Amino acid sequence: MEKIILTGDRPTGRLHLGHYVGSLKRRVELQNSGEYDKIFIMIADAQALTDNADNPEKVRQNIVEVALDYRSVGLDPEKSTLFIQSMVPELTELTFYYANLVTVSRLQRNPTVKSEIQMRNFETSIPVGFFTYPISQAADITAFKATTVPVGEDQMPMLEQCQEIVRKFNSVYGEALVEPKILLPSNSACLRLPGTDGKAKMSKSLGNCIYLSDSADAVKEAIMKRMYTDPLHINVADPGHIEGNMVFTYLDAFSNQAQLEAYLPGYANLDEVKEHYKRGGLGDVKLKRFLINVLEDELAPIRARRAEYEKDIPAVYDILKKGTEAAHEVAAKTLSEVKAAMKINYFDDVELIKAQSEKYQRN
Ligand code: ATP
Ligand code: MG
Repeated sequence: MEKIILTGDRPTGRLHLGHYVGSLKRRVELQNSGEYDKIFIMIADAQALTDNADNPEKVRQNIVEVALDYRSVGLDPEKSTLFIQSMVPELTELTFYYANLVTVSRLQRNPTVKSEIQMRNFETSIPVGFFTYPISQAADITAFKATTVPVGEDQMPMLEQCQEIVRKFNSVYGEALVEPKILLPSNSACLRLPGTDGKAKMSKSLGNCIYLSDSADAVKEAIMKRMYTDPLHINVADPGHIEGNMVFTYLDAFSNQAQLEAYLPGYANLDEVKEHYKRGGLGDVKLKRFLINVLEDELAPIRARRAEYEKDIPAVYDILKKGTEAAHEVAAKTLSEVKAAMKINYFDDVELIKAQSEKYQRN
């Protein structure tokens, strides 16, 4: 069986460190590993509209931002198909048929959707489109027969929902769909990167992000002025806490041994740094400077590549256009297989027409 990746992002803002460790970085590694037959990366504008219906301009403006972020982290159109969701109408059609295989109560149980509804104050008035976006995600994944979906932990319920839809479809209509597997980050600190404010998830919608395209000064300011550490660690000599301390969470997610030796010499490993902090005598500013260096190692090359790609925006759109055409072809093929399996391919079902002619000739 072919190894196929499908994943993507909502164009609701520029991409941030959470996206990077949760999915983007892995995608680039998988892309360059040569182990996958096909890689589809989708800018999920239709999904973004499910909770931004009154603000299409925001979605429209952010398509190019996400595409620039893709290019600057190293997604390569020669190896990955980059495309725009709404321009592949087959995805909408698949969603419509899959919706018949899912119950309202099953959707209500989805913990990610539940918390997102709360976050958006949708409790009393959930847009139907938003409520059903896990079904549309199942359409996105299955349209490309994806076997692997590299995403952050918040996407686990979406993948489970998708697997259920595939099983249900295949058992009702015959084996037409491929069941995908989730690929979570291997580093546990990256499963769900918290925001700089210490809130459970770095998220565009919460305004607690460090963006991949932030300037070096903006990153420095976010860390020095806004990053949540340990409110009980007032003087350097005070014993400190690691749990819930974002500086350590980010160091767990981003730093390596070589960086420790270069930027914070005198410790054998990060655990020793943590022990020192817990005992007292290690200041937040020193740690924050270390983190700034660590992040700059990662972000400076991304920023530099972005500046280059920003010089030719038509080329970015051209990549999306070509990718969308290619994606469209694949999705159209799957949709026709799905319709054949469901026996709603009336015009090209020779057997149906023949059997019915015979039936009516006899009468
Ligand atoms: P929105 O607030 O508009 O939903 P978002 O910041 O949650 O935006 P998405 O576009 O929904 O971003 O997510 C895209 C991908 O990035 C998904 O695979 C998701 O799991 C991953 N991701 C997003 N935020 C984080 C995070 N803080 N930690 C790890 N992975 C993340
Ligand atoms: Mg999200």
